[in-house]
Amino acid sequence: MKSKTAKYIFVTGGVTSSLGKGIVASSLGMLLQARGYSVTIQKLDPYLNVDPGTLNPYEHGECYVTEDGAETDLDLGHYERYLNSPTSQANSVTTGRIYQTVIEKERRGDYLGKTVQIVPHITNEIKRRIKLLGSSGKYDIIITEIGGTVGDIESLPYIESVRQMIWDLGENNTMVIHLTLIPYLAASGELKTKPTQHSVRLLMESGIRADVLVTRTEHTLPKEVKEKLALFCNVKKGHVIESKDADSIYEVPFLLHEQDFDEVVLKSLNLPTDQKPDLSAWENFLDRHKNPKNSVEIALVGKYTALPDSYKSISEAFTHAGAQTETEVKIRWVYSGDLSTENIDSVLKGVDGVLIAPGFGDRGIDGKILAANYARRNKIPTFGICLGLQMMVIEFARNVLGLEDADTTEINNMTQHPVINLMEGQKNITHKGGTMRLGNWKCQIDKNSAVYKAYGEEMIEERHRHRYEFNNEYLEAFEKENFMAVGTNPDTALVEIMEYKELPFYMGVQFHPEYKSTVANPHPLFVQFVGAVLMYKQNKKIHATR
Ligand code: GLN
Repeated sequence: MKSKTAKYIFVTGGVTSSLGKGIVASSLGMLLQARGYSVTIQKLDPYLNVDPGTLNPYEHGECYVTEDGAETDLDLGHYERYLNSPTSQANSVTTGRIYQTVIEKERRGDYLGKTVQIVPHITNEIKRRIKLLGSSGKYDIIITEIGGTVGDIESLPYIESVRQMIWDLGENNTMVIHLTLIPYLAASGELKTKPTQHSVRLLMESGIRADVLVTRTEHTLPKEVKEKLALFCNVKKGHVIESKDADSIYEVPFLLHEQDFDEVVLKSLNLPTDQKPDLSAWENFLDRHKNPKNSVEIALVGKYTALPDSYKSISEAFTHAGAQTETEVKIRWVYSGDLSTENIDSVLKGVDGVLIAPGFGDRGIDGKILAANYARRNKIPTFGICLGLQMMVIEFARNVLGLEDADTTEINNMTQHPVINLMEGQKNITHKGGTMRLGNWKCQIDKNSAVYKAYGEEMIEERHRHRYEFNNEYLEAFEKENFMAVGTNPDTALVEIMEYKELPFYMGVQFHPEYKSTVANPHPLFVQFVGAVLMYKQNKKIHATR
């Protein structure tokens, strides 16, 4: 196959952080894809962590995991959810990784005694990483999102690399979209353009001219404001696109499309615009999402509940499954650290389902075990993910199998009953970064199970991010009590999915299904769980009216 020459769209941000560059990049990607282009999105993060794997979710939200096991920024999750196509290690670059590569090369002597500098060595490595996706021949368009805000010290090498990329590839093959904020001053009733003008000027000082401005705003921009922005920021008329606060992030592509955003972008890249985008599937999704017929409430029991971004993929997977089942899924955020035998009844009162969240470390562990116990005894549909499954297993071992001190060795190394344990090969690993079972692993599904009905396949692959495993020495005891391993890794026999057959829905998975859920393909386990939750709620009502 003759490889295509890819075109590059660089997305920068100005004025403040948290403007939603990831959503704008994803929306644009989806619109271009809907016109028949093959698109991928890449994130360049200007921090020194080699990957976000060791970052506290409170600082940076969820760590998203790709099929090939890269621990990445949560924006990669948006890219996959909008484009429905997998990303990989190549889609996620951090300053830490760039420096690591350059320093390793320096130690190896690759630079032949030359002085190693930010320009050209760091910038060349950034450019090499940007070009990797383009040279794969798989994509027509690469959208590269530059994390951080223009003007930050950390962003400078990235901005310089973008300038060089534009110089290397030419203006017809590249473009820059600059995202900024238009603040509204309530006292004077004015929308202010000055911060945007300054940030465009900052960009210009680095030799980069923005082709399109996307302005985040709470209020619609009047025509004069748009024209003023175009004139002072040196962009064409019609190249100022507003991105107004939307009720749902899934509306953003439509709001941008109404302003011809995708058309403007294609013209800037000298690409044909004759094929209009087919947005029918998304329209259908949005319609179901915005007009649910039912509503359920699910408790999400976790320790990072104060920052819902820590569970981004889970809440989005609920949105996808909710649209599929025409059900509004309300999440009751339950901080596991506060749960006790005294308050569990009131905290979980009235919920229609319980999701026990993934996590690391001992804080809030007891609360998760308590929640598993409460849900099992009250027959509430329960879904445990990763640590969530491990807590369901511990609870079951203690209270059904009578193994009183059953535990995970992550928390208690001295336990008599390590029902969750490290695999032999992992025991010598002491380093925290990069020692986990990560990315896609196969799972063989028992045909005689509820999950088989969800997947409709015997062999699946799901993404992992954990160190500890179900200890197979205890499997027989669990299965005797009908808590069955219905999914296992075909090569290692490690337990992947457990289903408690005595209840309509009490299931835990060692992997992270949430990473795979997209608008086009809601995850079957989430769909099945929401279905079970809905059924439980309806049955509750029937019992109440009897
Ligand atoms: N801490 C657990 C482990 O390492 C679970 C990890 C998770 O929930 N992602 O196995």
